[in-house]
Amino acid sequence: MGKPTGFLEYERKTLHKKSVEERKNNFKEFEFRFSSEEVKTQTARCMDCGIPFCHGETGCPLGNYIPEWNDLVYKGHMKAALVNLHSTNNFPEFTGRLCPAPCETACTLGINANPVSIKAIERTIIDKAFEEDWVKPRIPIVATDKKIAVVGSGPAGLAAAQQLCRAGHQVTVFEKNDKVGGLLRYGIPDFKLEKNVIDRRIIQMQIEGVTFKTNVNVGKDIHVKELLNKNDVIVLAGGCEKPRDINVPGRNLKGIHFALEFLIDQNKVVAGLQRDNKISAKGKKVVVIGGGDTGADCVGTANRQGAESVTQIELLPMPPQKRNEAAPWPYWPNILRTSTSHEEGCERLWSVNTLSFKGNENDEVTVLNCIKTKFENGKITNIEGTEFQLKADLVLIAAGFLQPEPNGLISQLVELGLELDQRGNVKANFADNENPFQTSIPNVFACGDMRRGQSLVVWAIAEGRKCANAVHEYLSVECIM
Ligand SMILES: Cc1cc2nc3c(=O)[nH]c(=O)nc-3n(C[C@H](O)[C@H](O)[C@H](O)COP(=O)(O)OP(=O)(O)OC[C@H]3O[C@@H](n4cnc5c(N)ncnc54)[C@H](O)[C@@H]3O)c2cc1C
Ligand code: SF4
Repeated sequence: MGKPTGFLEYERKTLHKKSVEERKNNFKEFEFRFSSEEVKTQTARCMDCGIPFCHGETGCPLGNYIPEWNDLVYKGHMKAALVNLHSTNNFPEFTGRLCPAPCETACTLGINANPVSIKAIERTIIDKAFEEDWVKPRIPIVATDKKIAVVGSGPAGLAAAQQLCRAGHQVTVFEKNDKVGGLLRYGIPDFKLEKNVIDRRIIQMQIEGVTFKTNVNVGKDIHVKELLNKNDVIVLAGGCEKPRDINVPGRNLKGIHFALEFLIDQNKVVAGLQRDNKISAKGKKVVVIGGGDTGADCVGTANRQGAESVTQIELLPMPPQKRNEAAPWPYWPNILRTSTSHEEGCERLWSVNTLSFKGNENDEVTVLNCIKTKFENGKITNIEGTEFQLKADLVLIAAGFLQPEPNGLISQLVELGLELDQRGNVKANFADNENPFQTSIPNVFACGDMRRGQSLVVWAIAEGRKCANAVHEYLSVECIM
């Protein structure tokens, strides 16, 4: 432990943020790492618990060695902390920016004080490492003749590809978009993750030996049978792309879009791939349907584009402000979360269902007909007589994602015997079970959102790494036989 009395002496600090006024008129990141002095006092708060819940089952899905790197940072061994961090996480710069940090809600300090600022410390280690040019490619020292095709270049596909390449296999990543990164590239706004943060990792992976093929939609541009013929293993990491729709009267009116259409459009403008927005919130009354991460990203983007007003509606009631008995420490609590995007301006309405959309003579949306709901015994019902209207000229549907797109890749694989689970995701066991990540087609593996359904970046990286282990083991057995 760095300093036995640190948790008594120092208050928790979070990252430095630009003010709302400074950040609201651009798409740049606005949070910055700790200074050397700050990171020292923050790591000093760690108690090096006998059972570190931050690292355990209810904490970090990657099993990051949090007390170890806290100790190393406190003692000034930043390079050693980086090596430790990289031993469990290929991309701490993604999680250090995007993770909701279940490690912090599991931290023992959280029982009666503020938890250790684990995410901010992780971010500080990796940002400092890139600034100092400590992050170097790790060229594999062995080479096998095994070929692996990874379909999808989100965090799951990237983690699997990097691990398999480092194990000596020949890895090619296929991506249907024009650029690599999955939702990190097209979906998550630049103000949460600037895209040069992805690019520098891709360069590292290319030097290590991973081949990337973009603009290739497997199942459309190339038949999956061809990929199977040319490779020993296929890893499916295509995400969970089918959005949940709001199928009510008026859905076809102009001005109603899925969240990702809106977010990707803005990502492309920031990247310089197109000049103007095809969907713009400028001067509009925006209503975002759905209270999760995706909805919050729409709020932040709409405000930056100059929306007249932004309202976010959610079907469920407002969660409690603090932990309650339903989620005692160290479990992940369902509490009210106010994102930086909400701080920038947004009216949040809870327990609201959308009954229909109304439009004008040009078939443009103008109004949402809504009703209040109640949540009882796990069921949501409308409360009669509570109907009301919300004015809107841009509606963004951020109601979650259902399953991978069933066409193309998935339908070709289903013809070859691929089994799907009840929700339509690719069926494969998680780690610690029999044949983890292996699908019903023995040389086809699956990981990330395509296997587990809509989830988080940290889970995608964890699944990609564990899937790579399973593939490596499968290939090793194959090599001997
Ligand atoms: C708007 C938004 C904001 C989010 N914010 C956060 C956040 O702040 N923190 C967090 O932890 N999580 C967040 N998430 C969730 C997180 O982004 C995902 O859980 C994670 O990206 C899943 O990684 P993945 O690699 O499994 O899939 P994805 O990132 O979805 O990548 C899949 C890739 O596969 C490609 N692909 C699919 N089919 C094919 C095919 N047939 N051929 C070739 N390529 C194909 C896709 O084009 C895509 O690039 C957010 C999600 C959204 C939508
Ligand atoms: S649970 Fe918190 S205090 Fe304990 S080891 Fe982990 S970070 Fe440190």
